[in-house]
Amino acid sequence: MIQISALPAFTDNYIWLLQDHHNRRCAVVDPGDAAPVLAWLAEHPEWVLSDILVTHHHHDHVGGVERLKKATGATVYGPASENIPGRDVALNDNDRVTVLGWEFDVYAVPGHTLGHIAYYHHGRLFCGDTLFAAGCGRLFEGTPEQMHHSLSRLAGLPEDTLVYCTHEYTLSNLRFAVAVEPNNPDIADRLEKVSQLRDSGRMTLPSTLALEKLTNPFLRTGETSVKQKADERNGRDNRGPSEVFAALRAWKDTF
Ligand code: ZN
Ligand code: FE
Repeated sequence: MIQISALPAFTDNYIWLLQDHHNRRCAVVDPGDAAPVLAWLAEHPEWVLSDILVTHHHHDHVGGVERLKKATGATVYGPASENIPGRDVALNDNDRVTVLGWEFDVYAVPGHTLGHIAYYHHGRLFCGDTLFAAGCGRLFEGTPEQMHHSLSRLAGLPEDTLVYCTHEYTLSNLRFAVAVEPNNPDIADRLEKVSQLRDSGRMTLPSTLALEKLTNPFLRTGETSVKQKADERNGRDNRGPSEVFAALRAWKDTF
């Protein structure tokens, strides 16, 4: 059995820690900072860090990779088309890797960055800065069409998939979701729950794809009310979900 927990980093990042209790080996996803991981390893000296999974090249995801690799000799996995420090295994779309005995499918999900990848194993999705709880990553490199396509692909995974994204943005994302869909009871309900969690300093992740489909405006671009709101915002008839997505993403950038 593999256990998944979060090591907080910076102000709102989570470094996901995967522990294989059978072999006392562990892996981390997107260690933007080595310090929280090294601190955990120091407190748990019987554990060996064997693998590091990276979703994309941004500093808050790779900043700790080289130091951790030097300290532990861990194998570093990352997207083939991006510059990832210390990368040992370069991954492309539809590759499959075995980490801690778990087989992960690799999906190319361009949008936030062009080479961004996600890792999926049996109902667990590590999606970096692509799909967030109630939101999605900014388009630093890709087009709205690319991001919309990437999100649609992730949305096609099983409904009960647990979504392990990298940032604690859920509350601010839900405030935007309410602006998009003021009459959506699932969003209102989630906002209340997430507010309570944050008030008591707790994290709001992982999410599930089922909940995202009910409350994440960026996965709801096919809904009539969402399209109407997007049309209202940019004053045109947005044709199709991809254009609705583009309108929402542009609105969120200045929200
Ligand atoms: Zn990023
Ligand atoms: Fe990030």
